Amino acid sequence: MTTLRERKLRELLAYTAQNSPFYRDLFDRNRIDLSRVRSLDDLAILPTTTKEDLQRRNDDFLCVSRDRIAEYTTTSGTLGRPVTIALTTADLDRLAYNEYLSFRCADGTSADTYQLMLTLDRQFMAGIAYYSGIRRLGAGVIRVGPGVPALQWETIRRLKPTVLVAVPSFLLKLIRHAKDYRIDPNDSSVRSAICIGENIRQADLSLNILGKKITESWNIRLYSTYASTEMQTAFTECGEGRGGHLQPELLIVELLDEQDRKVGPGVPGEVTVTTLGIEGMPLIRYKTGDICTWSDEPCGCGRTSLRLSPIIGRRQQMIKFKGTTLYPPALFELLNEMEEIVDFVVEVYSNEIGLDEILLHLVPASRTEEGDHRIRAYLQARLRVSPQINYHSLADLQSMQFPEAGRKAIKFLDRRSEYK
Ligand SMILES: [Zn+2]
Repeated sequence: MTTLRERKLRELLAYTAQNSPFYRDLFDRNRIDLSRVRSLDDLAILPTTTKEDLQRRNDDFLCVSRDRIAEYTTTSGTLGRPVTIALTTADLDRLAYNEYLSFRCADGTSADTYQLMLTLDRQFMAGIAYYSGIRRLGAGVIRVGPGVPALQWETIRRLKPTVLVAVPSFLLKLIRHAKDYRIDPNDSSVRSAICIGENIRQADLSLNILGKKITESWNIRLYSTYASTEMQTAFTECGEGRGGHLQPELLIVELLDEQDRKVGPGVPGEVTVTTLGIEGMPLIRYKTGDICTWSDEPCGCGRTSLRLSPIIGRRQQMIKFKGTTLYPPALFELLNEMEEIVDFVVEVYSNEIGLDEILLHLVPASRTEEGDHRIRAYLQARLRVSPQINYHSLADLQSMQFPEAGRKAIKFLDRRSEYK
């Protein structure tokens, strides 16, 4: 029996073989017989696609002529060269439908009013995705844009949104502003927030420090959503908060280990996507670089779709330290949790035999022997291995975090490439 997804997959393969110079080459070079791909499991005979492929041969991914492109978006380029993703009118409709499903999953209805606290220009796909998804839902939308807590609060007071769409660390700034100006956040119309760009949960799905700090001061429900420009599709939490739900009609997702083999439930793997129903720049087995775990246990909301955990880390940032595998976000969480540590930078470098070493640059709350013992005991207990520690003054650490007057504090210093 052929499922709808299998039919869509076969259509995608025929379509890309015909229209995408990149995929045509890839299939030819690897002598792929596309007729052998009958079920979703047969995907494994196809090679994977990487971000480097997209960077090097960006235009060769395009499956339509220029006159059919409705919008050009770009990846944020936090790592490496930005990539252009071009969308047709049908792709923009698909994007709206994707966010419509996402907001519905996050308990949104046409009675809601959403305040968007994010960029809507600068070729940012997520901005128009949220906007058009909310319009499709039949809900109201207020485009305030990023930043400016005073304006956000003034707008909340005046227009009474029920849902915020924001980066969760910005919600903390809103709370701080409210405290400074004697605004009671709980006396507002806001009932929930869709959290974009940053985790609010730990790998076990309990709220992380950021999530806890927000909900301690503000009695709102937080929903996490995970998406990327390349996949043009979001994984969004339902009210159960047990991971982001896959939208099976829009995407096929595989979680792969370093040898491109599928990992089991609960095992970290690289999120690898095959897009369904995209005309402009569809992707086949595209490796996102994001590491998550998956689960397909039935969800309390009644949906049976696969769910993804919060992002555990980026593939490039994986640290293999004394026999354990670690990612920076878990280390950050650990260091943030400890009161004896005021601030930190995590450095990773290669030792003389090419293995990863961790050096923690810490500002201790008190520079005593006792404080040092407590920090070492805590790290040993939580990591089960002992990293090296260098203590610094706050001023010294800040000069490490802001080299050349950068605006965002550097918390992770990856110096491995300098030794390889
Ligand atoms: Zn659910």
